[in-house]
Amino acid sequence: MAILKANAYGHGLLNAASALKDVDGFALLELDAAICLRDAGYQQPILLLEGFFSTEELAIFEQYRLSAVIHHVEQIAMLSASKHRNLNLFIKINTGMNRLGLAPAQFSQVINTLIKKQYQENITLMTHFASADEPCEQENVMQQLQCFEAITAKYGHYPSSLANSAAIIRYPVTHTDWVRPGIMLYGASPFPDVTAAELNLRPVMTLSSKVIAVQELEAGERVGYHGLFRTDRPMRIGIVACGYADGYPRHAPTNTPVLINNQRSRILGRVSMDMLAVDLTSIENAGLNSPVILWGKGLSVDEVALSAGTNSYELLCALAPRVEKTASL
Ligand SMILES: *Cc1c(COP(=O)(O)O)cnc(C)c1O
Repeated sequence: MAILKANAYGHGLLNAASALKDVDGFALLELDAAICLRDAGYQQPILLLEGFFSTEELAIFEQYRLSAVIHHVEQIAMLSASKHRNLNLFIKINTGMNRLGLAPAQFSQVINTLIKKQYQENITLMTHFASADEPCEQENVMQQLQCFEAITAKYGHYPSSLANSAAIIRYPVTHTDWVRPGIMLYGASPFPDVTAAELNLRPVMTLSSKVIAVQELEAGERVGYHGLFRTDRPMRIGIVACGYADGYPRHAPTNTPVLINNQRSRILGRVSMDMLAVDLTSIENAGLNSPVILWGKGLSVDEVALSAGTNSYELLCALAPRVEKTASL
């Protein structure tokens, strides 16, 4: 199933869904987005990764044929209190991440209750790995896997779902019935130590803009808020129409890479709300209106994220609504 949460990692729900229209299922967190997918005509299973939060929501799940993660015993009480019967349920077990999921001791009680309530045809077993992306955490992944296998041994005939992008790439043993790729579908690497290009992943989103002003500076001049960057020689500086209100990270420091006229350069000084400064000094023919790529084609979002002290997930998801999105498929 393709993970489409957070507006498809910033790519636009319906853009992403149409590119992925042949997948076996979708998963996300937002009920309104799930309804939007159904209304757009998608027929495959749609899994809500945090399930339902009230008895009232159950009617909507039934109406739109949505599948729900069951991660908390409270949800069983809600099911019992409602007359809705035809839901597909993914029982999530906490095998060590300690975020969502039933404790091992709660699991058998919950599944037996659900079997008694005639849900046995509609059950999938699920867990989530905390560290499949960390090269030195292999042991931790195996522990979570063994924990899952031990807890579910008696229920081995139910389908299961374990792997996120990192586990899909690095741990084939975790593939089972449903895999749950997110970040890899969008062409970024789930790993800190392997690039997207090495994994043969191509960026889906390109964040682009252009140079809207040029400053010719002497040595010793300061650039942007608080003059964080100071020229040590005469420099030509471009001002790009993209800032943190567009989702470009404010914490990206001087030297964070950027493409101008498809040549590599760097940002200078503090990123402002609507603009940032770039070095045009050694970029041939760069000037007013030169095209700028902040990340995407030719410059991996992973590289920008690393420089800004974050990861590609955060940058992609934080793309602001005001940024014009054009799909080119
Ligand atoms: C977000 C999410 C995924 C996808 O993770 P990626 O690292 O983006 O592949 C898979 N499973 C669950 C439960 C998630 O919340």
